[in-house]
Amino acid sequence: MVDLVSIERKIADACIVAGRPVFDVVLIAVSKNQSDEKIQNALDTGLRVFGENRVQEALQHWKEHRLNFPDLELHLIGPLQTNKVKEAVRLFDVIETVDRPALIDALVQECNKQNKFPKFFVQVNIGNEPQKSGVGLEDLDALLDYAQRQGLDISGLMCIPPVGQDPEPYFVKMKQLALSYQLPHLSMGMSADFDYAILHGATYVRIGTALFGER
Ligand SMILES: *Cc1c(COP(=O)(O)O)cnc(C)c1O
Repeated sequence: MVDLVSIERKIADACIVAGRPVFDVVLIAVSKNQSDEKIQNALDTGLRVFGENRVQEALQHWKEHRLNFPDLELHLIGPLQTNKVKEAVRLFDVIETVDRPALIDALVQECNKQNKFPKFFVQVNIGNEPQKSGVGLEDLDALLDYAQRQGLDISGLMCIPPVGQDPEPYFVKMKQLALSYQLPHLSMGMSADFDYAILHGATYVRIGTALFGER
């Protein structure tokens, strides 16, 4: 079952080490590939902030619960195709994976159409990995500028550091970027490294396996 107590304790410990108040850091429970039973269990323990990486699966998991839990906060943490923008704007409260001008155009149009305005973060390909989504470091400045000119309000950055490498230097770099662009939110850190992410300024940690067990 969902192991919330020990995760919350670890988050609190990491906050103490970092000299940060514990309310600075929000746990996003990553419910992708989890059973309805485990999701129900997570809701029963009081969790309200969840992350999904596919729009279709998120609809299956959350369409019903959405109606029963008005305080639910759903984050899209996986890549977004423009043909899914309509459903994404309708369902999610935070879309963390803005990474290209065409997506910004589609989001602006759809938000205005629905008169619904989620929060948006830009996903940064912090390791400059060719196969990974996210905007490259060299294009971040132009993309943030483009979002601003189109009227899309970006309030944070998100990253997934390269697998199998020490994530700390990437977290440090992300914090520098967030500071330099004065963006209040920083989504980084997963099951294996959220304590380091908190040490380096994460305001959201995205935890799946350590909370729900193996997918
Ligand atoms: C799956 C996923 C997570 C959670 O990963 P765990 O290692 O299971 O905690 C976090 N962020 C993103 C973008 C994911 O796709």
